[in-house]
Amino acid sequence: MTEHRLGVAEASALILAGARALDAEPVSLDAALGRVLADDVTSDVFLPPWDNASMDGYAVRAGDVRGASASSPVSLNVIGTVAAGQRASRSVQAREAMRIMTGAPVPDGADSVVRVEDTDAGPASVQIRDDRDAGRNVRRRGEDVQAGAVVLQSGATLGAAQVGVLASVGCVAPTVHRRPRVAILATGDELVPVEGFDEVRRGERIVSTNSYTLAAAVREAGGQPVPLGIAPDDPTAIATRLADARGCDMILTSGGVSVGAFDFTRDVVQRLGGTLALWRVRMRPGAPLGFGTLFDVPWLGLPGNPVSALVTFELFARPFIRVLAGHRLPHRRTVDVVTAEDIRLGAPLTHFVRITLDRGDGALPQARLAGSQSSGVLTTMARADALLVVPPEPADVPAGSRLHAIPLRESSGHSAHFPA
Ligand code: AMP
Ligand code: MG
Repeated sequence: MTEHRLGVAEASALILAGARALDAEPVSLDAALGRVLADDVTSDVFLPPWDNASMDGYAVRAGDVRGASASSPVSLNVIGTVAAGQRASRSVQAREAMRIMTGAPVPDGADSVVRVEDTDAGPASVQIRDDRDAGRNVRRRGEDVQAGAVVLQSGATLGAAQVGVLASVGCVAPTVHRRPRVAILATGDELVPVEGFDEVRRGERIVSTNSYTLAAAVREAGGQPVPLGIAPDDPTAIATRLADARGCDMILTSGGVSVGAFDFTRDVVQRLGGTLALWRVRMRPGAPLGFGTLFDVPWLGLPGNPVSALVTFELFARPFIRVLAGHRLPHRRTVDVVTAEDIRLGAPLTHFVRITLDRGDGALPQARLAGSQSSGVLTTMARADALLVVPPEPADVPAGSRLHAIPLRESSGHSAHFPA
């Protein structure tokens, strides 16, 4: 029996060593959210394309309005109106003003836009009652983007603002890295899909929760799940199901990777010509973890226990998927926390402890156990805000210890209060 028992950091390095961003494809802006740019995007236009007004008011010459005040207003002839989407019919000469709306091109000759609130809003002649806008309120051509400039760099993740920048420079089909296709196989005689819940009620089977958690986690990580269903604990059946993983970018199996009499996953992978580069990691939950290749596709054999499967997914599969999807930063950034209670752990392994986080009085969030740390108890994973990372030594963590935690969801940063 091959045994490669590594610490968590070494295991991560080994697993990610061969991961490379997938090839690129063009996508529509509608489909671009969350994808990663494979090439720099350059603008061939200036933005804004013309000098334009940043206020509703009057386009004027600064020299004409300097010194204007409520007690000695300046009167100018109004020579017309220019709205957004129009062009001024003529230029603004000395002692003239043109009504102008936000976004409209500033007429030649004008260098300032006096806000309408500082005037009497006159249609034929206008009284300027303040000179604070002299030389102001003109957004210059190209002040946002110069023609020829790179507006987004390769490796950028496309969120709402980035999609907007692409649209603004006319990039309708950005080139992004392909979304990783991730095959997911659950193994175990005891498992049924949720449609078979009657058997669960009769006390005969359990739901293959990993089939659902892993598909959701793959999506969250930016991958595309390819469900291979549930295989019974039978080498032939497992091999048959795994054949459908050919051509995928990654294979995830769950269960059957430990030392039980019916744990066949590793054997099957090797019998199908796959390789086993890693087995077992010095961590809890999740010790029995296999990694290798099958059909030249990277294979990660996750443990069967639902929490172990999700924690090992978080630590090893999610970063792998992110690298394939083109992200330059595979790992979640940890946060510093302080423990609010004593935590006893025992075995000299790296522990990933399900915790809730509270903003205490101090500078650091306070970590409390989310409840049972049994690797089968998924509800405490659902309740947890983060995984507290406890190094192998010492085994006991007294209240007040400062440690790192891995936030589990984007939503851990939300609040009922308006951010002010
Ligand atoms: P195994 O790794 O196959 O020894 O499974 C360890 C534990 O996880 C057992 O209690 C299994 O019933 C459970 N388990 C395995 N696969 C799944 C799954 N897909 N969904 C939920 N529990 C599972
Ligand atoms: Mg099993």
